[in-house]
Amino acid sequence: MGFKCPICNKDFGRDRKDFNKHIETNHKGIAKTFLDEIKLICEIDKDELIRELREKTGCGIMDCEKALTENDWDIEKAESWMKEKYSKIHKI
Ligand SMILES: [Zn+2]
Repeated sequence: MGFKCPICNKDFGRDRKDFNKHIETNHKGIAKTFLDEIKLICEIDKDELIRELREKTGCGIMDCEKALTENDWDIEKAESWMKEKYSKIHKI
């Protein structure tokens, strides 16, 4: 599951920035229902990302969600952010 434009069906994979850019440039005068649909897609994708990060790191939901929020929902950034955070804790 990734980001997909509900209007033109263009698939953006996991690239949230490209998706946001596409919405801003192509569908500026969009209806509220459309916005809700996008929001729904983003919510589903968040759950998916949290699950993926949990599998990768073995950390709890809250930790994974925080790591993803801090890193703009970029799973690779979130993973290295988490590793850095935990390595600091273990250095004590
Ligand atoms: Zn579109």
